[in-house]
Amino acid sequence: MIRIGKLCLQNKISFRIENIIQLQQIQQIENTISPFKLNLPKYKMSSQNSKFDINKLIKFRRNMHLNPETGFKEFQTQQNIKEYLLSIGIQENQIKVCAQTGLVVDIRGQAPSEGEDRLIAFRADIDALSMKEDNPHLEYQSTNGAAHMCGHDGHTTCLLGFASLYMDILHKIPQNKVIRLLFQPSEEGPESGAFVMIQDGCLDQVQEVYGFHNWPTHKVGYLMVKPGPVMSEVTVINLTIIGKGGHGSEPEKANDPVSAAVDFHIKFRKIQEKYKGRQYVCTLPTFNAGERFNVFPDKALLTGTLRSFEDGLSEEFKKDVIQALEELKQERGINYQLNWRIYFPATVNSETEANHVERVAKQYFGEANVGIGIMPARASEDFSFYLKERPGAFFFLGSGRIENDTMLHDCHFDFNEDLINPGSEFWVKLALDRLKVNL
Ligand SMILES: [Zn+2]
Ligand SMILES: [Zn+2]
Repeated sequence: MIRIGKLCLQNKISFRIENIIQLQQIQQIENTISPFKLNLPKYKMSSQNSKFDINKLIKFRRNMHLNPETGFKEFQTQQNIKEYLLSIGIQENQIKVCAQTGLVVDIRGQAPSEGEDRLIAFRADIDALSMKEDNPHLEYQSTNGAAHMCGHDGHTTCLLGFASLYMDILHKIPQNKVIRLLFQPSEEGPESGAFVMIQDGCLDQVQEVYGFHNWPTHKVGYLMVKPGPVMSEVTVINLTIIGKGGHGSEPEKANDPVSAAVDFHIKFRKIQEKYKGRQYVCTLPTFNAGERFNVFPDKALLTGTLRSFEDGLSEEFKKDVIQALEELKQERGINYQLNWRIYFPATVNSETEANHVERVAKQYFGEANVGIGIMPARASEDFSFYLKERPGAFFFLGSGRIENDTMLHDCHFDFNEDLINPGSEFWVKLALDRLKVNL
């Protein structure tokens, strides 16, 4: 059982409207759109009167980029998504608030019912990271201390692009087939938006659930998917070694936590040797202790993460860490506090659904442009919570302008808008396949 810290939504998060910068600066977007470089088949059903308007979508994306909002504060983002959905003909009563700043939108077909009932969910994350952007060349660079450096602005735009294309063909989709859009807050945490969305019932009646992340290591036009683990489980580790402070000239009266923490690091390396060959990585990149050259501190603080694709490895590793700390307690007379928290479980695709994505992708992107790529990735995703509840698959869409383009969470990252068109269209292909509709 994975425990997630208690969410404190009862304290109303006040949203400062003055933080929202309007998009007046963005002029003549049409002139700055990079040409769509892929030679992908144009989606057959989009017509001249299509609700899919790439300029409108790019404008939406840049506005979202300019006004980023972090976990459970996405009030303006939520409102903007709602307004876009209303503008393409989705009715107000189809749009439900979920997890306070998220949305759940059911789009039901309009043609007479046919075959089995189907309800398939597609998810886009809508939150930004709490970090500074460093893209002064962009006229839509964010400046409010949050930033869309993971491309969730692009994921949201692709799902809106899908909805636009899908509305064009809705009259041909049977009434007993439903696509549910999940616009999810707080993927980046600190609390998981997926977890709260599920608690709020977003998966009720859902048969399959799908989501994707843009991935800049591969160019636009490449899709990565596989059955089984695709992203890691992540455990956050906080360790405090507690000794006794004192004067630097009297080590016999103190109990130095710094050297005890160094001893712990040696034991930690031995534990790592034991796990050699297993699918995991555990690092303790921070070590903080002391302030003055002549004072022993009371405490040394170490933090890190353990990432793994193996269920149960984290708990097994934790036992070894506790044993090492108990030894240290005997040897050095120190005490310790260990906070070991599984933050997100591993993202594990179900086999059948991963195969559906692969099959549809091969038809759309071409055989050579679908593979496992860099999967499983060491990064983590709270999409894992959906996959614990329902069959489904999480895939990566290449988003690089070049191979190994600026990576996610880099302050220079900017979502590649060339992905909006194929990202939206691929959702349509997957929708028709999973609803079992032949147009
Ligand atoms: Zn991220
Ligand atoms: Zn992300």
